Amino acid sequence: MRTRSAFIINSAKWLLLFTVLVVAPLFLAMVGHREESRGFWVEFGVGLGFIGLAMMGLQFVLTARYSKIGAPFGMDELLNFHGQAGYVAWLFIMGHFIVLFLADSEFLKFLDPAVNLPRALALSGVIVATCCLIAFTYWREKIGLVYEWWRASHGLLALFIVFIGTVHIMQVSFYVSEIWQQALWVIMSLVAIGMLVHNRVLRPLQMRKKPYKVVSVKEEVKETWSIELEPDGHAGLEFKAGQFVWITLGETPFKLQQHPFTISSSPEVKDKIRFTIKELGDFTTQVGAIEIGSRAFIEGPYGNFTMDETSATHNVFIVGGIGITPTMSILQTLRERGDQRESTVIYGTPSKQLTPFYEELKALSAELRLNVVHVFEEADDDWDGETGFITPEIIRRNLPDDISNCEYFVCGPPPMMDVAEGTLREWGVPVHMVHSERFNIV
Ligand SMILES: Cc1cc2nc3c(=O)[nH]c(=O)nc-3n(C[C@H](O)[C@H](O)[C@H](O)COP(=O)(O)OP(=O)(O)OC[C@H]3O[C@@H](n4cnc5c(N)ncnc54)[C@H](O)[C@@H]3O)c2cc1C
Repeated sequence: MRTRSAFIINSAKWLLLFTVLVVAPLFLAMVGHREESRGFWVEFGVGLGFIGLAMMGLQFVLTARYSKIGAPFGMDELLNFHGQAGYVAWLFIMGHFIVLFLADSEFLKFLDPAVNLPRALALSGVIVATCCLIAFTYWREKIGLVYEWWRASHGLLALFIVFIGTVHIMQVSFYVSEIWQQALWVIMSLVAIGMLVHNRVLRPLQMRKKPYKVVSVKEEVKETWSIELEPDGHAGLEFKAGQFVWITLGETPFKLQQHPFTISSSPEVKDKIRFTIKELGDFTTQVGAIEIGSRAFIEGPYGNFTMDETSATHNVFIVGGIGITPTMSILQTLRERGDQRESTVIYGTPSKQLTPFYEELKALSAELRLNVVHVFEEADDDWDGETGFITPEIIRRNLPDDISNCEYFVCGPPPMMDVAEGTLREWGVPVHMVHSERFNIV
């Protein structure tokens, strides 16, 4: 069961582990170190490099998609943390070079091709690669870099930095003169590389053994499609209502195109799984044209936008647009299980015509203790319900007076999520009672 103390302890445990792993190289470097100090700024600059490289190595762990890693935060938060940590790692790595060059100009020789060509190329390469990593991420959309190429280049650049960084530490060897210290850095690099290989090679190999077949493609509303997949020769996927997977369409799982989508059907229905997809970019605009019978591969499930561990007697879903998909899975599961806990869905969409699952929600309302509150940005003249965007007033108006036993699920466009999360924070709702899923992770 999710409790406040369990959530805080779990979160603190993970943050502590991350911090320990980041600073561990500094302490390990001190063990058995007998050389004279080279002055504060040089040692400080070296320390920045150790921390920067350790953070880069840990980035591979954060993105390795092991559902147990960072479980209390959820995969989207974990990947967003990875994004923020990347900027910090960049600062440490660049700080390493800048502080050392300023502390002692002799260090500039490390970049001088006349002194040592391979070393100069490798270290200049690290500076360029680190800056590209950040620039491509920050300005990806502005420079028109396709997501898949960005992701591939991201992994390769990071791998290059970790590899050269480790070789550099060994070559300088000032703080890693002991064989066991060198072994630790090599192991760290191998773990990072191993995770990438596991992610991009071994996982697809496993996925290849469990293919799926597209059995239906249906337009829910304009530019929003539901596709159903059937397991082809295996038992299918065990998942919790509200979770998401990465989907690859086509004959092979070894593809750059792999996209996360939430399952919009119930885990109680084993023979088919449904996804509901809104057209957005190059991949999603092709979904309506998928041929029946074509192949798909699934990696997952991931995410903790689920209600299996909730103790609340009333679940409140504040969702917008395509952010309804996990809620649909949860509501159908309540129905399949005959679970009569109360639910309120506050659902913002552009209009009734552009509301996916309008009829399905109506049918679910008749079978569950469910109140669906539609909030249309633009409503027909005869509509007497909520209109405009979801606001704190709309949320308050549609909740029971006593909100102490409600658990909240928030999913939708970022501005809507900011309003909903901010409102709940202002009301003092404890963070462990709010589940959020952002569809725009990088
Ligand atoms: C946890 C999660 C669950 C999601 N569930 C749904 C859902 O149920 N229904 C739905 O319609 N959409 C969902 N999305 C969003 C969906 O993944 C993107 O809309 C889709 O990947 C866009 O791909 P594109 O090539 O059409 O668009 P693009 O123009 O290539 O990308 C648009 C944006 O989508 C994101 N994106 C693109 N490719 C990927 C990728 N491989 N991995 C992660 N993010 C990517 C990037 O932020 C990008 O800027 C979900 C996203 C996440 C993170």
